[in-house]
Parts: sequence; structure tokens; C-alpha cells
Amino acid sequence: MSATPARRILAAVTLLALLALSACTVGPALHARRIPAGTPTSAAPIPTPSASPSATPAPGTLNWYVSQVPTFPEAPPPQPVQLPPNGPAPNWHRLPIDQKVAFITIDDGGLARPPAVIDFIWEARIPVTMFLNSPAAQEHTDYFRQIEAVGGIIENHTISHTSLAGRSYAYQRQEICGAADKLESLFGKRPTLFRAPFGNHDATTLRAAHDCGAKAVLHWSETVHEGKVRYQTPEKVVQPGDVLLMHFRPALMDDLLAALKAIHRAGLTPALLTDYIK
Ligand SMILES: [Zn+2]
Repeated sequence: MSATPARRILAAVTLLALLALSACTVGPALHARRIPAGTPTSAAPIPTPSASPSATPAPGTLNWYVSQVPTFPEAPPPQPVQLPPNGPAPNWHRLPIDQKVAFITIDDGGLARPPAVIDFIWEARIPVTMFLNSPAAQEHTDYFRQIEAVGGIIENHTISHTSLAGRSYAYQRQEICGAADKLESLFGKRPTLFRAPFGNHDATTLRAAHDCGAKAVLHWSETVHEGKVRYQTPEKVVQPGDVLLMHFRPALMDDLLAALKAIHRAGLTPALLTDYIK
């Protein structure tokens, strides 16, 4: 069957769409792929009488999100926390540090993975730690690899996201070590941090996590959902060492921005957990 005109048009449209995609969305070349705002793309520039370089991009676009990110004080050189020499893993909702940093964490991975998040993390240099369920990591490896390529760290959040508290050592070890093994095979690096599903853990969890290679178990001090920060501690302001929890959900762009603003209001700078837990 020869190509009909309709088919040729379809092919041309597809090609154009691919060209457009390759110009403006995520690709393997993560560096230097942005055209600076305002760069003329045609020989005859359109006169823009009142156009100023500070014109705000349209709300909801990637450039808008990037434009809303506050300017942070420079992060201090990390001073890693003291870890117990032989386990079990410590459990922290706030790292025991005085340095003026807080930590952004993103959990799960199976529900939603907004593509713009990869560019946002890169453009705004947002340090993020991802606690992934291993089946989601396996199913969407490329997505998480791209976040890793722009500086994100991948950590362990079990296989099946069931509550661990009260379960046997063997069960908990299988959930934690099984996910660590899978994440190590997918990303080439064994996780060194663990977060229990729903935060539900007991002494067995901290022992099993340590035995599976976790240096610490992370709870959280704030949650962020649909652009709102909810404080879980009495201070109602982000404290040095705080851990902010959000999820791979549709509003992750808003959640990242809300977390950044809350950290900035507190006079802190976002940092990576693995720079402090070594
Ligand atoms: Zn979770």
C-alpha cells in the first residue's frame, strides 16, 4: 500500500511535532539546551515598545516557576552528623545540626511524574532526595534517572509501601533489602537512607534498615501538598535540619516552589541529605 496524501501529511505533522519536542522538552542533553529568554529567532524582530527584561513569564509555565524561586544564601560547607558505629539506624524527623539548611524529599513515584519537574530541578538547582518504591523506580527508570542526572539522589522506600511497624524482622528485611537491591541494580548505587511507608516504624525497622545498608531512617518535620506547607512541629517555621516531605503527585511543581519559599522565609538554604549523612 502506497503512502496516501493523508499519510504524508500525518508523517510531516509528526516530524514537526518531534522537532518541537526535541527543542523544548527533556532530552539526554541536559546541559546548555535552553535558549536564553528574549533571544530573537527571526531576522526581523517584532517591535516591543514596553518590553522589559524583567517581564514576568506566564503563570504555570516552567519559566514562571523558575522566576518565582527566591535567591538563597549560599549553603554552608556541610558538617556531617555523627552516626552510631554499629546500628541500629537512627530515626530523624530533623537532622541534629545547627547549620542553616533544610532538606527537600519526594516520595513514592508510582502515582504521577510531572515531566516539567526535571527541568525545574535543573534550572533552579533544587537539591532533592527521592524515596522511591522499587516497582515504580523499575517501571519509570528513565524519569528518575533524569532527575538523578540533574542532581537528585535516589533512596529507599520499600517494595510494596505497606506499614512495617509490628511486622517480623524477616518481613521488614525483605521489604527494605529487596528494594535496596533493586534500586542498586537500576541506578548503580545502593541507597544509604530509608524512609518507612507512612512513617510507621518500630525498633525492628531501624535494625533491618541498618542491616540493609541504611545509615539513617528519615521521618519529616513538614509536609507539602498542593502548594501548602503543613508544619508538624510547634515552631511553625522551618528549622535548621528540617526535612520537608512531598510526593510524586500532579502538583509537585507547586509543592517544590512552596517548600523553597518556606525554607527561604526561615533564612535557610536547601541542601542534600547525603552531604550530611555520610
Ligand atoms: Zn510513601
